[in-house]
Amino acid sequence: MSSIAQTSTPTSEQVFAGIAATLVVEAGKMPDPQATLAKIVEVLPVIVPEVLARAIGEREAEPGHYPWCAPGECISAVDDEGVTCVEHNARSYTTTISDNDGQRELRLIAQLGHDDVYSEAPTVNLYDEAGAGVFLGAPDLDQTIVQLDGLVSLLRVLRKQMDMPKAADDQAAGVTA
Ligand SMILES: [Zn+2]
Repeated sequence: MSSIAQTSTPTSEQVFAGIAATLVVEAGKMPDPQATLAKIVEVLPVIVPEVLARAIGEREAEPGHYPWCAPGECISAVDDEGVTCVEHNARSYTTTISDNDGQRELRLIAQLGHDDVYSEAPTVNLYDEAGAGVFLGAPDLDQTIVQLDGLVSLLRVLRKQMDMPKAADDQAAGVTA
């Protein structure tokens, strides 16, 4: 047995479960718990991006780096004229979409970065695992967010259509002319 004290860092699942439990307990203290929970569900997606971005923005950045740079992910290079160029990279986020047997996957990866040789301002690299991708500046990313919201709405419409029964064909229905 080791006498060294073990510090256990909770997993993100444990942190999430704790936050969710706290929200439910706090909502339960309100006069109308269900309405309070409904309000939380409605408001969270609106406020979360701003609150999270502010929290990341308040981190102390390494000299010459952004607050969102991921440790060890930025790449420095010296060009022919002896000027140091830095490619800044945030941590990447992967959304994995798999079909019901899990055999095929579509992996979409989003990563914020800035290579000052190629662009004036940071861009978001949105790409699939096969490598096709785009570098989106702020206006392009705004447009992409609208397009992806539209895609989600379309998927909801398609999902409703999946429940529609097929019309009986003429022969099966025994229709005669
Ligand atoms: Zn950096």
